[in-house]
Amino acid sequence: MKILVINTGSSSIKYQLFDMNINKAIASGILEKIGETDGRLTHFADSKTGERKKVVKDGKIEDHQKGLNQIVALLLDREFGVIRDISEITAVGHRVVHGGENLRSPVIINNDVINVIKKNIPLAPLHNPHNLTGIEIAGSIFTNAHQVAVFDTAFHHTIPEKAYLYALPIEFYKEHKIRRYGFHGTSHSYVSEECSKYLKKNLCELNMITIHLGNGASMAAIKNGQSIDTTMGMTPLEGLVMGTRSGDIDPSIAIFLADNRNMSIREIDNVLNKSSGLKGLCGSNDMRDVLQRKNADDYLAKIAFDVYTYRIKKYIGAYFASLGSLDCIIFTGGIGENSSEVRQTICHNLENLGIEIDQDKNNAAGNEAREISVFNSKVKVMVIPTNEELKIAQETKNVIENQGF
Ligand code: AMP
Repeated sequence: MKILVINTGSSSIKYQLFDMNINKAIASGILEKIGETDGRLTHFADSKTGERKKVVKDGKIEDHQKGLNQIVALLLDREFGVIRDISEITAVGHRVVHGGENLRSPVIINNDVINVIKKNIPLAPLHNPHNLTGIEIAGSIFTNAHQVAVFDTAFHHTIPEKAYLYALPIEFYKEHKIRRYGFHGTSHSYVSEECSKYLKKNLCELNMITIHLGNGASMAAIKNGQSIDTTMGMTPLEGLVMGTRSGDIDPSIAIFLADNRNMSIREIDNVLNKSSGLKGLCGSNDMRDVLQRKNADDYLAKIAFDVYTYRIKKYIGAYFASLGSLDCIIFTGGIGENSSEVRQTICHNLENLGIEIDQDKNNAAGNEAREISVFNSKVKVMVIPTNEELKIAQETKNVIENQGF
């Protein structure tokens, strides 16, 4: 069975084609700058002999429809293609950011589902409309394939009221569904399952804190396999310090900025999402850059690193208290998987909580799931590479098989 996973953004389409018999992507790529003159499609394909081919196509891509047509042409290409006919694709799994309160698990897309995703646009105005565009176009190209939506919010639907309600007038929740939803659910769910396989323990017997540190970043408290709290909120802005997002701030700062810097709501929104976080503090949103500068005694880079790691440490304490007992902490995402320095700083001095890192294990490079805590650490500290696309493909397969297709 072959499943195409699509992540449609405002000006980009990311894709991976999975052969589910081997649980592996056989082609992948990204189409960038849709609508601009310097558009680019970068495509990778694995040949039967295991050789990886890459092709880059530069030039204006008018719109998402033309973009997806180009992707399909490459999937069918004699040299760079991996399928002979689009009917080989059984299903298309779409990453959809916001499922709101009603869409709590992956679903086969029909008109009702489309209407609910549309209804949730006010909750995710920057994402859901583009996800819908992807769904519409894929439906017109892959006319025989099942279309499945997998929601970033779904894994967190088990969060209890006390953790998802904000202490605002209750009508805001009743009338507008203003509440914590949480995101990165596919990643938190994937690494928690991989951890349970690694430890050979039942997921429903494990309490974990999952720490996804990519350009966006979030943590989840997972009790007996279910998310009970997460750092992102109604939108992905809340919680940890991120590449360009502020994470938690005093809400009054927004009002102060409006009053004292004469900034509009849109300008404030832009600053909090696009020029805050690591970038706001030290000018760079790339952790590799921040680390290099910090280690060369750049003061602002050091401050940015300290604020970034301290916020995560603080949430470990909070989630430990929420969970009551903790079996493991999992680091994932570009930073969590690759930076031993970030992991070391976060876990430093947490021995009293039973969290103790082994320096050598932490410093050893690796692409596989691995344990980095000392042998007798009460809480196991793990590094587990995330694979959101594979998880979306697996969920897509499960949904269509459960429906008897
Ligand atoms: P992601 O969004 O998961 O692709 O992660 C992107 C982030 O990972 C960026 O901030 C990168 O700087 C960071 N990153 C990637 N590789 C490394 C590395 N070896 N050390 C530190 N940060 C890294």
